[in-house]
Amino acid sequence: MSLSKPVIGVLALQGCVDRHGPHIEAAGGVFKTVKTAAQFDEVDAFILPGGESTTMLKLIDNFGLWKSLERNFRAKPVWGICAGSILLAEKVENPAQKSFGILPITVQRNGYGRQLDSYKTEIEGCEVSFIRAPVFTDIAANVEVLAKNETGPVWIRHGRNMASAFHPELSFDTPSPMHRLFIESLRA
Ligand code: GLN
Repeated sequence: MSLSKPVIGVLALQGCVDRHGPHIEAAGGVFKTVKTAAQFDEVDAFILPGGESTTMLKLIDNFGLWKSLERNFRAKPVWGICAGSILLAEKVENPAQKSFGILPITVQRNGYGRQLDSYKTEIEGCEVSFIRAPVFTDIAANVEVLAKNETGPVWIRHGRNMASAFHPELSFDTPSPMHRLFIESLRA
C-alpha cells in the first residue's frame, strides 16, 4: 500500500477519539471520525480507540455494524488501542467476550488491576497512559514485539495491523512514535 496522505478512520462510537486528530495530521495522515458502514468504506486504515470494549461491542451490535467492520478489518490495516486491542484479539479473557479475531494474541482484560492502578510512563520517548489496560498473552510467533514492559509485550505488530495496551494519543508531543509508525507504513 502506498498512499501519500492516508485517511485514518477513528471508530467514534465511544472512548478517546478526538485526541488522535493532531497525531494523525502531524504524521501526514487525514483524521476522520467514522461510525457508519458508508464511512468505513471511505477510509484507508482504522484506529480502534481506547475506551470500554463492552460498551463498544453493544453499540456495534445495536447499530448493526459488525459485518461491515469485519469486512473492512480484513481488507485494511487496523490499530487497536487498549479496548480497541481487546476487540481485535483472537481470544479475550477475564471475562471472555466476542472479538473480531484479527490479531493472533490472547488478551486479559484489566490485567493491571483497577482504575487506581492506572499510570503514565514513557515508551520510545513518548508519555503514554495505561488506563485499565489489558495484558497481552499467548502471542503467536509471527507477531513482532515493538515494546515491552515488566508484564510482557505492550506494543505489537502483525503484518499491517498493530495493537498497543496503552494510550499514546494523550501526549501533546505530536506525532507519537506509534502514530508515526502506523501512518508511515501506509505511505511507504
Ligand atoms: N478496561 C477496558 C476494557 O476492558 C479498556 C480500557 C481502555 O481502553 N483504556 O475494555
